[in-house]
Amino acid sequence: MELITILNRCHRFRGFVYHQARFSSDGKSIEVSVRPRKGSPAICSGCHRPASGYDQLPERRFEFIPFWGFLVFLLYSMRRVDCGRCGAVIVEEVPWGDGKRTLTKAYMLYLARWARRLSWKETAEAFRTSWDKVFDAVEHVVTFGLAHRTLAPIDALGVDEIQYSKGHKYLTLVYQIDPGMTRLLWIGRERTIESFQGFFTVIGDELASKIVFVCSDMWQPYLRVIREKCSQALHILDRFHIVAKMNLALDDVRAEESNRMRREGRVPILKKSRWLLLRREHNLKDAQRFRLRDLLRYNLRTVRAYLLKEAFQQLWDYNSPAWAGKFLDEWCRQTMRSRIEPMKKIARSLRVHRELILNYFRAQKLLSSGVVEGLNDKAKVTMRKAYGFRTFRVLELALYHSLAKLPEPETTHDFF
Ligand SMILES: [Zn+2]
Repeated sequence: MELITILNRCHRFRGFVYHQARFSSDGKSIEVSVRPRKGSPAICSGCHRPASGYDQLPERRFEFIPFWGFLVFLLYSMRRVDCGRCGAVIVEEVPWGDGKRTLTKAYMLYLARWARRLSWKETAEAFRTSWDKVFDAVEHVVTFGLAHRTLAPIDALGVDEIQYSKGHKYLTLVYQIDPGMTRLLWIGRERTIESFQGFFTVIGDELASKIVFVCSDMWQPYLRVIREKCSQALHILDRFHIVAKMNLALDDVRAEESNRMRREGRVPILKKSRWLLLRREHNLKDAQRFRLRDLLRYNLRTVRAYLLKEAFQQLWDYNSPAWAGKFLDEWCRQTMRSRIEPMKKIARSLRVHRELILNYFRAQKLLSSGVVEGLNDKAKVTMRKAYGFRTFRVLELALYHSLAKLPEPETTHDFF
């Protein structure tokens, strides 16, 4: 069986023929020359219609999927057309290539699919190509996917921020969190009003007006944009973020008190208590649980803050918004009397956002923002996989590529 027979089976295009396959002079790669089929006019890349020929450019090499340890190149001399419709001399378009990219579309899709399983660096090494070519491949596939995806219908949105480099650099991630469809919809630089508004520019007012639920944390710019753009949607404040904030507050209290006790030369009972206090009790090992019980006997600010935090967890067990509201009010009243400033700060913030928190119960817990949390964890894994250069563009492509469930370009054959 000849190589050309195989190519004709898996990578055939009307209007072109494989002419000849041979080894390169160094014997390391296979070069397959391609020619236009006789009588097939070139297609203008400006208007995508046949046009009359003008001249032919020097041969170009298009890298194809490597084969048994040999690199494979398609060799082709692009024609130029004198296009009446476009009124100019323009290079033809070829079905296996994408503009000036040096890889064939089939190879780009192949690399991009591997780049979802391996890191980009590993992908480049596995196929003896460069990181830049893997980048090109993913960019090609993601660009196609974004241009061809269907956005509507979207019922539920989740928005969250993610830190992406040392220093405080954040991305805004917008997810669709419908029960039957969870995916990343949009990535914005920073976590500002402008960056989140960018998402609504992309989806347009009509789609935004049909959104029923929005989950977010208490980040002020997000709250403002949601009020403005999805005023009809039920806005659910993110349960996980509330818990996380409370843990931060408790940790502040503990650190402050622990330092003070050390300065005053008292027994360091709070030493190494951090995780005892931050984990839920049922996640502790027996020995840790005993230590915690022991610690709770002391009349410390840290202990009082801990008990407030633990008591707050009951909120999520309520089913009725009214009872949840009563509980929340009572918890805030108690906390405001605690004289523990970091906890009081939380109580004040919860009072301000009371209605948004109760929306969680109004939505009958249908849309647990745990979905958002899960997606964000995946996003962090994607970013950790070390995609070489942590520029915004690289992260953007990597995240869309692994989380956006984008449609892929059509292919003549499933190479992978
Ligand atoms: Zn044209």
